[in-house]
Amino acid sequence: MEDLLQKVTSLCKRRGIIFQNSEIYGGIGGFYDYGPVGVEMKNNLKRYWWKNMVDKRENVVGIDGTIITHPKVWEASGHIKGFGDEAVECKKCHARFRPEDIDGKCPKCGGTEFTEPRTYNMLFKTEVGVIEGEKATAYLRGEACQTIYLDFKNVVDSTRQQIPFGIAQIGKAFRNEITPNKFTFRTREFEQWDMQYFVHPNEMEKSFEYWKEERMNFYKKLYRKHENLRFYEHPKEKLVFYAKKAFDVEYLAPWGWAENEGIHWRGDYDLTQHSQFSGKDLSYTDPQTGEKYMPNIVETSGGVDRTFLFLLLDSYEEETLENGEIRTVLKINPEIAAYKAAVFPLVSNKPEIVNKAREIFEKLTDTKKVLWDARGNIGKRYRYQDEIGTPYCITIDYQTLEDNTVTVRDRDTMKQERVKIEDLTNL
Ligand code: ATP
Repeated sequence: MEDLLQKVTSLCKRRGIIFQNSEIYGGIGGFYDYGPVGVEMKNNLKRYWWKNMVDKRENVVGIDGTIITHPKVWEASGHIKGFGDEAVECKKCHARFRPEDIDGKCPKCGGTEFTEPRTYNMLFKTEVGVIEGEKATAYLRGEACQTIYLDFKNVVDSTRQQIPFGIAQIGKAFRNEITPNKFTFRTREFEQWDMQYFVHPNEMEKSFEYWKEERMNFYKKLYRKHENLRFYEHPKEKLVFYAKKAFDVEYLAPWGWAENEGIHWRGDYDLTQHSQFSGKDLSYTDPQTGEKYMPNIVETSGGVDRTFLFLLLDSYEEETLENGEIRTVLKINPEIAAYKAAVFPLVSNKPEIVNKAREIFEKLTDTKKVLWDARGNIGKRYRYQDEIGTPYCITIDYQTLEDNTVTVRDRDTMKQERVKIEDLTNL
């Protein structure tokens, strides 16, 4: 099964989905780039979340906050003191690991002796200002959600939202992870999709259960293999003091069950902390009842890159064809596929066919992301599109010139049917 991760990693490089960052310099641990196909997929994935979490809900609004904030934010949030990850060091090869990643032996050299766990702070430091001596230490945000708390009051004052309502954001977060690993599963720069739902304290229980179900349903719609999804409930004794409960949506990765998203009970912790540290009262007054209270928060916080990786693992198939050939196909949710269709002129040396194909291609690009490919034989073109998960391949051939129909080939069933050109857009 670990093999699957290898196969997906190599597909990503081969087909321009994900590249190691700074590869020509030997790479840098925990940083990845999205290639020409990957960026389309990732943007579709983010749009998919936004559509589900913001567009379809009248009481959730979005923001787009900065990566660097006032440094006090991270004091208030507790990250400067306690955003640590524990690591042990192998006494033989000096590699560092999270204690949960070793089962007795050093994963690198097989050594069996380790130092006591030490805590490392994962916040990335930087400096704001250019004049030596006047520079202020600042931090790259360790979690994207903090900007939502900072903008809470601005959103209340500038929109027609009343509690209960949510603020959503997709954005980068940075963590100096001790052991970035498993391709893009654990990286040092990544994107999170967060939604913070602000409610009256009496409504917490109900809202928590609501969002827990909503978020599981979201992942069920996204992935094909529902048996690879489950909830993990955090044991009561491990919860932070303000949390009444916490659940992770987990996905069964090739290396075991792994966190995909957290649904967290944050209570009034965040707004109280920021009220104290900023000196600005962030409490809320109910416009109907006049009751003043500190809103409580249910958080849903997931990783975009992690979801993307799980989605690739979930979609990757190798199928043996009748002629014994193996076809690799990415049976990815069509909404996320980089291209909705590929357009092929059957041959590239017949101007009537090429021109007709161009005409169809240009018409489709008005509303859809489609790809043009006139290189090599049709079989090879199908293989390529299968590997990047293009749902349909449209071939323009001699018959097209006679009756205005094209061949449409389905990615998953490989079935081909003749379709009228004017029906393509509906399809
Ligand atoms: P983990 O236990 O795996 O380190 P976490 O519990 O620290 O994750 P949260 O702080 O709850 O994670 O962040 C919310 C989401 O952000 C996670 O569910 C995950 O999808 C994503 N995430 C967190 N850390 C990373 C990382 N280093 N690389 C990629 N995604 C991450």
